[in-house]
Amino acid sequence: MAPNKHTPHVLIFPYPSQGPLNCMMRLAELLAISGLHVTLLNTNDTHLRLCLSSASLPAIPLLRFKSIPDGLPEDRPRDASLLRDVAESLNKNSRLLLYDLLLAMKNDEYSSDGFPPITCLISDGFFPSFVDLAEDIRLPCLSFRTPSACSMWAYLCIPKLLENGELPFGEGVDLDEVVQGVPGMEGFLRRRDLPEFFRGAKSADDPQLKFMSTVSAYSSKAKGLILNTAEVLESTSVHHIRAQIPVTYALGPLHAILDSYRSARSCTDASSHTSSLWQEDTECLKWLDLQTDNSVVYVSFGSFTTLTQEEFHELFFGLINSGHKILWVLRPDMVQGLAWTDEIKRALPEEQGRIISWTPQQKVLAHRAVGCFVTHSGWNSTLESIVEGVPMLCWPFFLDQQINSRFVSEIWRVGLDMKDIRNRDLVEKMVREMMEGESAARFRKSARDLADAVKESISDGGSSFREFHRLIEDIKSMSI
Ligand code: UDP
Repeated sequence: MAPNKHTPHVLIFPYPSQGPLNCMMRLAELLAISGLHVTLLNTNDTHLRLCLSSASLPAIPLLRFKSIPDGLPEDRPRDASLLRDVAESLNKNSRLLLYDLLLAMKNDEYSSDGFPPITCLISDGFFPSFVDLAEDIRLPCLSFRTPSACSMWAYLCIPKLLENGELPFGEGVDLDEVVQGVPGMEGFLRRRDLPEFFRGAKSADDPQLKFMSTVSAYSSKAKGLILNTAEVLESTSVHHIRAQIPVTYALGPLHAILDSYRSARSCTDASSHTSSLWQEDTECLKWLDLQTDNSVVYVSFGSFTTLTQEEFHELFFGLINSGHKILWVLRPDMVQGLAWTDEIKRALPEEQGRIISWTPQQKVLAHRAVGCFVTHSGWNSTLESIVEGVPMLCWPFFLDQQINSRFVSEIWRVGLDMKDIRNRDLVEKMVREMMEGESAARFRKSARDLADAVKESISDGGSSFREFHRLIEDIKSMSI
């Protein structure tokens, strides 16, 4: 049937950094494979990087790509340190531009490429202004929060923590004390497991506390909240979030759903495109092929975490001293004040491993040679490791990473959490615990069991599978 103004057409707007982009691009692809028209709207800079780094953008008939300026001067480098500026600029400077674009796309009966007018928006939850824009032009809008449900629930509890007197922390408090203001986590969530900026907050007026609290509550103004998680992982947090935001879809891990869709449809181009913003070094897979099973420690801290030189040295010597083989992702902008030189790339002795700038991470984690993942506990990395059954050694930095790492060690029991102690001795000790003897076997068994449970939830009839189909049906009914 030819498209008409009621044909569901979703416009998806991701936050312009690797983690959220991966999540939302996977959702875009899944919705398009499922028969909905989808426009993925990126910033010009992200779109350009995507085109340059990827072999090709996915060629799915119902998926198209558009881009807009982010409002910052063209010549400003969009590196790790500028992410916040880009988001602020989009929220403020690009509002008018977005308004005009959305209105045109809503009113356009048929655009030249045969796509119908847009009927629904899915925007990153960090863009609250999008919810208002959608309301102004009378389009239903869904909010997608790409970090974990447990972190979303902690942010929603900021008012309760303030009311309880558990926030701000005050001088000299014991960071190991368990907090009571996040229902469902009273038994294990310590102050040090809350997002790191909670520690710096001096009053209820702290700008970051206020921002997170407001942005999180804003999701309840949207028609629904999408979370890239599975109930089997975070049922308590999802349950509590639903009490405040009843229409909440827990439909992850999206990368695993997409992989199973692709293999069910025998998509031949499945591996030829990625959503990477960096050029992937696929040679590392050949190196992994030469290694024995579970013998390599994979180290990656995501797309925008940076290390001080001291942290870099402690990690470096801890890894070397463990004596295990290492595959280490060190982005060129990753170590503060240290240039990306051949010297750094060759810092690891040849026989002990490789330092490279960017990997095809999902494939690395799926490789039989990888025995453990030293991670910053970003949510996408955590989910990717869980799905592949790879135990994690967590070195969290900020935002949801502190709470994710607590879930890894205390709730799912698939790894260890270094948290605030970052020295070479602890790195070495923990790497050995993750890689050697009975403790390693125990972690691997728990990780495999968790992977099985998550895979069950995305298979036909599982909870994430049902939630994904509920989302599709709801988008269709919003489009009428
Ligand atoms: N990633 C990758 N190659 C790398 C390092 C990371 O493809 O060498 C991907 C990883 O698979 C994940 C994303 O980058 O999907 C990082 O997202 P995450 O939420 O873990 O961390 P963030 O970058 O948002 O801190």
